[in-house]
Amino acid sequence: MSSRVLVSDELSPEAVRILADAGLEVDVKVGLSPAELEGIIGGYDALAVRSATKVTAKLLEKAGRLKVIGRAGVGVDNVDLDAATRRGIVVMNTPGGSSITVAELALAMILSLYRHVPSATASVKAGKWEKKRFQGREIAGKTLGVVGIGNIGSVLVDRAIAMKMKVIAYDPFITPEAAAKMGAVLVDLETLWRDADVVSLHVPLTEQTRHLVRADTLARMKKGAILVNCARGGIVDERAVAEALASGHLGGAALDVYEKEPPAPDHPLFKVDNLVCTPHIGASTEEAQSAVAVAVAEQLVAYLRDGVVQNAVNVPGLPKEVLDQLAPYLPLAEKLGSLAAQLAPQGPTDVAVEVAGELSAVPMRPLAARALVGLLRRFLETPVNEVNAPGIAKDRGIHVREVRSAEPHDWASLVTVTVRGQGGETLVAGTVYGKREARIVRVNAFRVEAVPEGHVIVCENDDAPGVVGNLGTALASAGVNIARISLSRLDDRSGAFSFLNVDSAPTPEMLERLRALPHVRSVKAIEL
Ligand code: NAD
Repeated sequence: MSSRVLVSDELSPEAVRILADAGLEVDVKVGLSPAELEGIIGGYDALAVRSATKVTAKLLEKAGRLKVIGRAGVGVDNVDLDAATRRGIVVMNTPGGSSITVAELALAMILSLYRHVPSATASVKAGKWEKKRFQGREIAGKTLGVVGIGNIGSVLVDRAIAMKMKVIAYDPFITPEAAAKMGAVLVDLETLWRDADVVSLHVPLTEQTRHLVRADTLARMKKGAILVNCARGGIVDERAVAEALASGHLGGAALDVYEKEPPAPDHPLFKVDNLVCTPHIGASTEEAQSAVAVAVAEQLVAYLRDGVVQNAVNVPGLPKEVLDQLAPYLPLAEKLGSLAAQLAPQGPTDVAVEVAGELSAVPMRPLAARALVGLLRRFLETPVNEVNAPGIAKDRGIHVREVRSAEPHDWASLVTVTVRGQGGETLVAGTVYGKREARIVRVNAFRVEAVPEGHVIVCENDDAPGVVGNLGTALASAGVNIARISLSRLDDRSGAFSFLNVDSAPTPEMLERLRALPHVRSVKAIEL
């Protein structure tokens, strides 16, 4: 009997043809109510959706035959992943399907700003002929600074080089070699702000990237530089951009995304010249919509016909005996990966995951994968999971090693994640007390006993009196409550370290205040 596929959201005719040509029995039924869907889902092996169909646990209970769900697009918020995983159903998405489209919008934005296309259009339509006012600039020979060279940023790099631009890029999670292969010179953020004529943002919105472009970073950009944001609202401080445009320091800005969508009609940005704006249409082209539909159809065919899994976003189950032993250590491994990512040097080239003690007798691949998930998830918009993390690391030029050792040191089992990069090495280690009490026990040379949870501030300082008191006072005066604190010192007293769990996320200003305290060497905010 051939496999049956239900297409419950609009997919392009080409995608439906791919499914049918592969000998699958395809039913296209768009716009069904949840009850109607529940009534028929039991007859299908595969379900293809966009974002409209809500694939709930209740629906999946009725889906006795279902083996695979394909989402044409990236986000899988409309699919209950846990419920699908529990039922052994593979969920796939189509990352990268709209990368060309978004990169082309960024390029269109740059050209529009350099040649004043939108304002010149408005001027001509208003009966004016302002040739002088609209004298523009060529992009050839200019320096493009791309912040984030993932799926979209890397396509923009390629297109910009074709337009004879020089491309520099900042991306802490890619090696200089991988960037060079794309044609970009990897630089630090300061160099990018200083040297770029055009800055284009292609990063996810994270703690690190929120208001990455704000008054002080804008001030460090070249006078007359232009800024493009086709990534996410919130990466730029819109008020600061409006002020930099009004003062003339910023030569132009183009936004497809906003902190609040739609933005208020009286937004200060709309009062300044040289702003190009579009209503979050980055991924809206016929080709992109069709590309993700075709991709999902091809992936479903590959899975149903040949059992090949591509772009799965949920994880196949582990044997129960293995899972029982590993279960408490999997979240720990993810936390260690995440901590290492936030402490790590730029451009990691090598990640080692070491398991020591009792745990070393259990298959460690899932632990290493989970550590990579923690490491990569902090930086990527693309959903990262245990299935795709090793492949993503490889594409980014990151070499992953799994190391086992029977030596448990002072703990029954110990998991250590070491990240090597341009700026040196970061090592973090953790263990689990009892059944589920995860603890970080080492951060570089420092032995700690810290709970990997929530908002954390880590501080390196001279081993001198008063430092902890000063930190506590500074945090208290900013209204930040310290929940736990773990202190550590080096044996030769050449340095000390504090790991503080705090009740609210520290602001950048607060961190600056902490960094200015006597004897403090470095302060970092971490989210775990
Ligand atoms: P991606 O995950 O493939 O790439 C993101 C890149 O940013 C990665 O290389 C990562 O290492 C890098 N990065 C993470 N944190 C960074 C930091 N602090 N500084 C510098 N680089 C950092 O994601 P993508 O598919 O290329 O998407 C990029 C952005 O575009 C996302 O914000 C996404 O939401 C957005 N997007 C917008 C539209 C639209 O309609 N305008 C459509 C699709 C995607």
